[in-house]
Amino acid sequence: MYQKVKGTYDLLPKDTAKWIAVERAIRNVSKLFNYKEIRTPIFEKTELFHRSVGDSSDIVSKETYDFLDRGNRSITLRPEGTAGVVRSYIENKIYAEASSISKMYYMGPIFRYERPQKGRYRQFSQFGAEMFGSNSPMADAEVISYAVSILKSLKINDVTVHINSLGGKESKMLYREALVKHLAPGINNLCGDCQTRYQNNPLRILDCKVDQENELLLNAPSTIDYLTNEDKTHFESVLAFLDVMKVDYVVDKNLVRGLDYYTNTVFEIKTSIANLGAQNTICGGGRYNNLVSDLSGPATPAVGFAFGFERLLLVLEALEYQGDIDYTHLFIIGLGDSVKEDVMQMTNRCRMGGLITETDLNNKNLKQQFKQSEINNARFIAIYGENEKLEGKINLKDKQNNTEVTIDKHQLYNYIVAELMKPAPSSCSSCGEEDSCDTCGGE
Ligand code: ATP
Ligand code: MG
Repeated sequence: MYQKVKGTYDLLPKDTAKWIAVERAIRNVSKLFNYKEIRTPIFEKTELFHRSVGDSSDIVSKETYDFLDRGNRSITLRPEGTAGVVRSYIENKIYAEASSISKMYYMGPIFRYERPQKGRYRQFSQFGAEMFGSNSPMADAEVISYAVSILKSLKINDVTVHINSLGGKESKMLYREALVKHLAPGINNLCGDCQTRYQNNPLRILDCKVDQENELLLNAPSTIDYLTNEDKTHFESVLAFLDVMKVDYVVDKNLVRGLDYYTNTVFEIKTSIANLGAQNTICGGGRYNNLVSDLSGPATPAVGFAFGFERLLLVLEALEYQGDIDYTHLFIIGLGDSVKEDVMQMTNRCRMGGLITETDLNNKNLKQQFKQSEINNARFIAIYGENEKLEGKINLKDKQNNTEVTIDKHQLYNYIVAELMKPAPSSCSSCGEEDSCDTCGGE
């Protein structure tokens, strides 16, 4: 018996509906913000991640899946989405297109060799977005509001945006000096990782999951006190734009984020919903004004975020979100061997015309087929036996309106389409929500 690889999971057919509903909510909100999808490969040259995410980041130093391909090239399964998007932005010269601003999003698998636990896997999925070409604080605020809007569209309201600013190169350097000085007397009491970080990248000590309650870290100097005037003004404007858009946030002075490329604004969205445990961060992001030029592209300011899909789904589970309700338009019950060819023909015709149609493939009896139609949540049930065949008729039940008619069998498709076109009831037929329904997509 084969078993799945540690840290991976199967998404089973019974659970995909929720994922699809979340993907749809993401695509709908992305459209409102005018972001378009980009799909880049799930593996890239190892070097790309060393240069972008940074050698000293946890992700690159100990979490990547690296391998040599048969041509002896060093390849890495992507441990995050931004590096590939930036590589593609530069390689395809997207910066040279008519619009000076490019807005794109991605969804797909991400790989990190981590210790698996609830909400933490070795293959997981991220949805992320990137905006290139604006250094305006409006861009930071737009990106944050986009991330929050996705959660709101899924009716996840118990979220807090934690926000901070690291400043640009100059501010980051000043802060680094102050932090090193502050940590020096107590560094030996911190964990082994922190001692290495102290040499390579002291900012990341603030992101340590082991020492996060240590007094030394809690009393660390605040990045905001080391911002240049320009960086400070930028940060204050981001907050002002969030205020007018009524996006709630808390300024979190210890928020630094684990990746090297961030400059100025960094943010995380957290939820207090219990079943996430320690994995309560569902989204992380920020501005990265130097990454495009660091990867040999033209200097281009950029800002983005990434959501963990699995954690989003765990939150929805806690909120008992049902996702889209599975349904079929039509279930055709065929009774007897002699009707099977007609049944296949009608099923195919209805499917080709766009009706979600199901039929019995296992010669079940009438009662069992009715049961199947219920499991498939069919609105219409057509019954076609030997008598109907002789008369060229078909019996049709409409479960929504509780009606039953006998119609010419050649009219089956047209009849159902006409019924479906009739004005929708004022409440959503799937979830019962009054008037228009944002969530389930029902009418
Ligand atoms: P964490 O602090 O929880 O390790 P991170 O800072 O490493 O998260 P990011 O690199 O910012 O995470 O990735 C963005 C989002 O991806 C996270 O907020 C989280 O929702 C999700 N995520 C990160 N690592 C994993 C993982 N191993 N399994 C599932 N989701 C993950
Ligand atoms: Mg991590």
